[in-house]
Amino acid sequence: MKQSQKNKIDWSQFLSGVPAEDYVFQNIPYDEQVKQASALIREAEIILIGAGAGVSTAAGLTYSGERFIDNFSEFIEKYGSMYMTDMYAAGFYPFPTQEAKWGYWSKHSLINRFLPPALPLYKQLYEIVKEKDYFVLTTNVDHQFQNAGFQAERIFATQGDYGNIQCEKGCHPKIYDAEDLFYKMDQARSDCLVPSYMVPRCPVCGGNMTMHLRCDSYFVEDENWHEAAGRYHDFLKKIEKKNAVLLELGVGFNTPTIIRFPFEKMVRENKGLSLIRLNMNEAFVPESFGNRAIGIGGDMAKVISDLSNLSEV
Ligand SMILES: [Zn+2]
Repeated sequence: MKQSQKNKIDWSQFLSGVPAEDYVFQNIPYDEQVKQASALIREAEIILIGAGAGVSTAAGLTYSGERFIDNFSEFIEKYGSMYMTDMYAAGFYPFPTQEAKWGYWSKHSLINRFLPPALPLYKQLYEIVKEKDYFVLTTNVDHQFQNAGFQAERIFATQGDYGNIQCEKGCHPKIYDAEDLFYKMDQARSDCLVPSYMVPRCPVCGGNMTMHLRCDSYFVEDENWHEAAGRYHDFLKKIEKKNAVLLELGVGFNTPTIIRFPFEKMVRENKGLSLIRLNMNEAFVPESFGNRAIGIGGDMAKVISDLSNLSEV
């Protein structure tokens, strides 16, 4: 293991269907890995992208440091830097009122969902796969795939979208577009609070609304969600019969059962599939996959840029 991995989880204690000792950081030079990955993508008829938080971080939507401090100084001051350490922690802050909750989330949503343009990493990724039969399974909720040109019908965002809200108790299977509301809240926000008259109420039960993000058992899976899930399962059936590449991007171990482990299972069970895993620190892959797996660590923005340069040749 690399020095930087020493303080991480002991993988020999970790059960995921692949024997822990099978995982390796590949000892192949970076340039060679990128060339191999590029060749796999070029030859593939079908590409299934699985994307986690690491892609958006690499693309520039970082949740901590300067980007957090620059945009949320008012919130850090009001609620305390002990709690407001980054946008991830801030999202879990127990805001005492609905006015405070929407004061924060309207800002968070604008900063991460509505204001950023399609970022270069996502645009390069789209250029790499756009001529292929592709599909995107993602836990990201920032809409970057759609912004970059990926077709909505080829995306399954399982965990929600920063642009939508739902009943806090999920009392009915519907979600609501909150773009206008968030822009209005942003204009009206004062001392980190939105005016009471702007606080949304559930049109069915009259209770509180919340962000459409999977964080408890009340997450609403509406008609569109189920249709996207259906398209994803149809796509998986195609993959079984064709020469396909699973391109896994920035998927860590918060929710490995959605993308990381199922992708490994598919590759293990189907010899026609290959896995390209791009991950800052956790690019280890099962050694038993042989040359059907490439794990490239480090800065994904560079890897995608290098892959996109190779794909233009
Ligand atoms: Zn309700």
